Formats: sequence, structure tokens, C-alpha cells
Amino acid sequence: LSNLNEFYTFDNFIVGDGNQFSYNISLSVAQNPGKKYNPLFLYGGSGLGKTHLMQAIGHYILQQNPNTKITYVTCETFLNDFINNIIREKNNNEFRRKYRDVDVLLVDDIQFLAGKEKIQEEFFHTFNHLYSLNKQIVITSDAPPTELSKLTERLISRFSWGIITDMQPLDIETRIAILNKKVEMLNSDEYFPSDVIEYVASQFELNVRELEGGLNRVLAYASIYGARDINLDLAVEALKGFSKKSSEKMSILRIQKIVAKYFQISVEDLQSKTRKQPLTTYRQIAIYLCKELTDNSLQKIGQNFGKRDHTTIMHAVDKIEELRKKDKEIDALIHELKNQL
Ligand code: ADP
Ligand code: MG
Repeated sequence: LSNLNEFYTFDNFIVGDGNQFSYNISLSVAQNPGKKYNPLFLYGGSGLGKTHLMQAIGHYILQQNPNTKITYVTCETFLNDFINNIIREKNNNEFRRKYRDVDVLLVDDIQFLAGKEKIQEEFFHTFNHLYSLNKQIVITSDAPPTELSKLTERLISRFSWGIITDMQPLDIETRIAILNKKVEMLNSDEYFPSDVIEYVASQFELNVRELEGGLNRVLAYASIYGARDINLDLAVEALKGFSKKSSEKMSILRIQKIVAKYFQISVEDLQSKTRKQPLTTYRQIAIYLCKELTDNSLQKIGQNFGKRDHTTIMHAVDKIEELRKKDKEIDALIHELKNQL
């Protein structure tokens, strides 16, 4: 009886480095609703699985206890319900019932509340009501609470009462696993050779929705052109000019340009052999982003950074990875750069 997408379960969610922590936390929330992490605030770029995980929590709780009252809404629905029931009809019973008489409230894409004060206020009261009754609240957003500057302080501070966790882009192995799962679920007669799967996975790095779209496109292409079987040539043809990661878009040079601009240095500085600080750290950050966001080998990346060898590149990647864990500011900075890319 819920409006959850039946496919968005934990079982159908593939876990990789970029979403492991969020997955574990979500599972823990589902196992201890209202008790362990409340609220849960999930954020990350578009198409990285926030809605999927949030609904998986709902499914899980319902499975444990089918009588649980769960409301899943996008922020827009919340807004519309608010307008309809309170402003237009001056009758907020229905609204109250839907949002306050629940055990679990899932609110998707909270960033849409930005700048809308009346509805923020309503949400604030809804939140307080549920929170005081130990009802589980889960919120998703495209940005961390601190970056939701057009949300009132008191809401932002409440979001930090529980746990905040993020979803990051997935590595190639995880993307391949997602595609394999998807192929399995498609239950189609078509056979997808592994090189086709790998090719599709390599073309969509930042958004699982687009990754799945890429697979569908290959399938549609094969069907429309009556291909006898799906092979690499066909996949390349199908995704021509369509994939998000056209090499131009996420090239080493593009990353170098963005990083150089951000730190107000030149691309030549990044490519030079100079080992002065802070330039060395800036370069390591650029190298890290190249490793993470492009499919270039360590060697290839090294060539583009002053002919450094692959061990130096590996060292830079490790170093920034460490720094990200220890230093929140560096972590935020990497986020910011990724956003700009
Ligand atoms: P978001 O809400 O972050 O924009 P969604 O949850 O809507 O992203 O995910 C987009 C699509 O990608 C959905 O079809 C979802 O099932 C799928 N998806 C995302 N991450 C995963 C994953 N780790 N495993 C399987 N499918 C995923
Ligand atoms: Mg979503």
C-alpha cells in the first residue's frame, strides 16, 4: 500500500566504495528505525542512488512490520500538499495525518525547500513533532546541509542531530556490477558480451541513471536496426555523442584547467617539475581527480604531469585519499572541484 518503487530495495542495490558507508548506515537505520540515527541525511550528486537507498529503508521496515505507517514524498509533493490543504482549503487535517501520524517520514530532495520560508516552517514543526516521538526521519539532498544556504539555520542544525552521509561516484567495477544486475533484471533474450558492458560502464562515470540509460540505448539501437547480436561496434555506434563522458569532457587537461583556475595558478605550473608547496599539494589534488574521474592509466596521468612515473602518481593519490579522511576542509574542497568539473 505504499508508494515506494518495488525495485528500490537493498537487495537490488549494488555496493561499492562510493556508497558503502551510506548503504551500511541506511541498513542500520532500517533495522533500528527511530533509535539509532535520527534523522538520516543522505546527500550526493544526481543519479547516485539516494532515492533508491531511501526507499530501500522503507521497504525493509515494512517487511519487518507491515503495519508501519510510512510516508515517502518528494519535497515538491510536500510543498503541493501544504498549499492545497492549508492555504486553499484551510483544512489541515489531511495534511497533518499524512505527515504527522506516521512512523517513518522519507523526504526526498529537500534542497527544493530553499528560499521557501513558510513551507520550511511547516516542515520544521513536522520534524519536531516526529522527532519528539522518536519517529524515523530520512532526508535526501543534492548538497550537504551546510551548503543549503537558503534553508533556515534551525532546520540545518536539526539535520545534523542524527547522521549525515554522502554518496560518491562509483568506480568502474561497481558500475559494471550494476549493469550486470540490470541485464539480469531485464530478463531479455539479448546476450550482452562483457566487453560491451565494460564499454558502457566506462562511458558513464558520474550518474547511475545515465549509466542505465546507456544500456537501454544500446538495446534499443540493436532492436531498431535489427542487429543480430549485441557487440562492441554496435555499442560504440549507439552511444556516439550520447555518453556523458565524451573524452573532451573529462580529460586530464580539463581537470588541470579547472584545478589551476581554482588555485589561481597556471596549467604549466601543474605540469611542471617544481616541488614547492603549496603547488605540490595542488598538483596532487589534480592527479587524484584524474585518477578518480578518468580512465587513464597511472602512466598516462604521469606523462601529463611533468613526466612523473606511476609510483609518484600512486603516492599522490594515496596522499590525497588520506588527507580527505583526516581533513574536512580538503574533503570539502575536492567536492567543490568535482562540482565544477
Ligand atoms: P538519486 O536519487 O541520487 O538521483 P536514484 O536513487 O534515483 O538517484 O538512482 C538512479 C537510478 O540508478 C535508479 O534507477 C537506481 O535504481 C539506480 N542506482 C543507483 N545506484 C545504484 C546502485 N548502487 N545499485 C543499483 N542501482 C543503482
Ligand atoms: Mg532522487
